[in-house]
Amino acid sequence: MKKIDLYIHLIFWAFISVLMIQPAFAQSTATKNNLTTGLHEPRGVKEAYAAGTRSRDGKPGPNYWENHARYKITITAKPPDRTIRGTEQIVYRNESPDPLPMLVIKLFLNVHRPTATRGTPGGNHMPDSYLSSGIHVDSFAVNGTAQPWREIPYFVTWQPVRLSAPLQPGDSIHIRFSWHYKIAPAKLPRGASLEGIIDPGTYYLAYFYPRVAVYDDYQGWDTTPYTLAQNFYSDFNDYDVTVRVPADYVVWGTGKLTNAADVLSSPALLRYRASLTSDTTIHIATEEQMANGKITKGDGMNSWHSKLCPKCSLITFRGGMNTWHFKAHNIPDVAFGLSNHYDWDAASVIVDDVNGRRASVQSAYNDSAADFRHMVHIGRHALDWLSHQWPGVPYPYEKMTVFQGGAGMEYPMMANDESLQDLDQSRSQAEHEIAHTYMPFYMGIDETRYGFMDEGWATTFEYLIGQKDLGTSRDDSLFKQMRVNIWAHGLTVMPGLKPSPIANIPIITPGDALSSPGFSGSGLWFNEYGKSALGYLAMKDLLGDTTFKKCLQAYMARWHGKHPSPWDFFYTFDDVSGQNLDWFWRNWFFSRYYIDLAVSNVAKAENGYTVTLDNIGGMDAPVNIMLHFAGGKTQTIHETPAIWKADQKHATVDIKTDKTLASLTLDGGIWEDADPSNNSWKIK
Ligand SMILES: [Zn+2]
Repeated sequence: MKKIDLYIHLIFWAFISVLMIQPAFAQSTATKNNLTTGLHEPRGVKEAYAAGTRSRDGKPGPNYWENHARYKITITAKPPDRTIRGTEQIVYRNESPDPLPMLVIKLFLNVHRPTATRGTPGGNHMPDSYLSSGIHVDSFAVNGTAQPWREIPYFVTWQPVRLSAPLQPGDSIHIRFSWHYKIAPAKLPRGASLEGIIDPGTYYLAYFYPRVAVYDDYQGWDTTPYTLAQNFYSDFNDYDVTVRVPADYVVWGTGKLTNAADVLSSPALLRYRASLTSDTTIHIATEEQMANGKITKGDGMNSWHSKLCPKCSLITFRGGMNTWHFKAHNIPDVAFGLSNHYDWDAASVIVDDVNGRRASVQSAYNDSAADFRHMVHIGRHALDWLSHQWPGVPYPYEKMTVFQGGAGMEYPMMANDESLQDLDQSRSQAEHEIAHTYMPFYMGIDETRYGFMDEGWATTFEYLIGQKDLGTSRDDSLFKQMRVNIWAHGLTVMPGLKPSPIANIPIITPGDALSSPGFSGSGLWFNEYGKSALGYLAMKDLLGDTTFKKCLQAYMARWHGKHPSPWDFFYTFDDVSGQNLDWFWRNWFFSRYYIDLAVSNVAKAENGYTVTLDNIGGMDAPVNIMLHFAGGKTQTIHETPAIWKADQKHATVDIKTDKTLASLTLDGGIWEDADPSNNSWKIK
């Protein structure tokens, strides 16, 4: 950092810190509820326990609060025009005990600005087509009074807004915006294809609207920049969104479509309604029907248009506009896809056996995407499995749409997925994104700082559903290949390289500390995906499925619709399992360990053998001991991480047998060992 930059940095932070000093932090010096635990707690977390907003048994505290807002948004998109326009009213309610002298407004699409920091690999070398001037605020008003919109260029993807008078506890504030932005092509490096132009007749709209950042009880205002590297942190809000598009476009999106009868032709409406109770896939729209104006209501110009343009993918219908209206309650975000030529399939599935509640499963795709022809079937299977197996909590929303785009990305009730050649990979991608429904969306996770609390779970569920879909052997092998191998070897996939220390950064490290360009890719990726999934799966192995599920479901019941911290998760598992698991959490989530077990000794004992294992890497992983007896018989003994509870460096395993042991080998399975050369023993 150059000196002048450092100077500007200090001035801005001095300015912001004066604005942001909050009484909650000043008043929370009480020591009640200040029991000691074995885990490191950041200061803000300790203060939340002291203030009684959270409780060290893992439950929300008696003083728990969180803020909410109502968003009423109208968007207008007229492809191929790239300008997206919006008007927006926000009613934001301060549920905190603190007067708020300022608000923080997030402007995620400013990540397209040339001045934005982008933390994905190659993020600072985006093609020119990605770069834009971001979102333009055309008008801004607070409580009915127009105000100039001022931006501090330094912050880019968020801005502080100083209020003329602090927003008092229990009071609401009315904010109005009008804005526009130029949508960018989505054919970009995968990490940057999360919204944009999919093709000339298909747009994906996400992250587009200015929103109030989260102000919570243990971190205060969320002022982390959006860099593409990490995801988001959002309050639970109500949304009323109107999407205005040319009349030959269909709009798919988050929330209940409240005016299907106004926008769909009678035959399409009948098929759409039938899909809501159908177990089998119904083709609501085909490319040909879209091209012939058979799907949407228009002003009578569809047939005229289709004669000129049978495929309709390159020329925009210039007739009237349709207005698609969506409503969603208590949800962290919204996203929308629109197309004038996509196929549209749908069916539904029972997600709650208690009341027979069904969820709609829809897909929208280019006619050439062969894998998407199976997507409603895949989605039904995913919703059924997630609702009944893991986490075994009924799918909480009324629908899920898998939209063919340029990414593998989750949004509430929506997934924006690439079309892939390999159907197994396509299914796995869809299952992963659909699994995100629970974490982060249902659970209100801070993905920016603690992405392992959502990506780690989506990766865990992706593995567990894969056991059913692919069988243990192929699922284990794919999981190792996709999620574990590079971490296990510390990135040393090229000969001559030494294991990188970034493979061993503790999982608990706040993600925004790992988001500087050129550094975030693998460190953040390890922590959020494979490494944390292995930690959750090791805990499942330790507790057994019944207790693990009881803990997981208790955590979800306690915290859905709220903002759990990692400590709320750890302490809930301690509380519900009735065990002090801090040794395990410390080992997996707070340490710099890796997996490397070794056989250090095998000794004859009275009823068999005693095997001594050394934990060289330090991580408390499960292990299989494969025994080979003289005469050719074999046996596998599974040890859970419990063998490391008493002594995290050495463990002894008693093998009861009357046979003669010829050799043994350690096999970590998905808990891949960094150095297999010390995993074997042979009789001399
Ligand atoms: Zn994910």
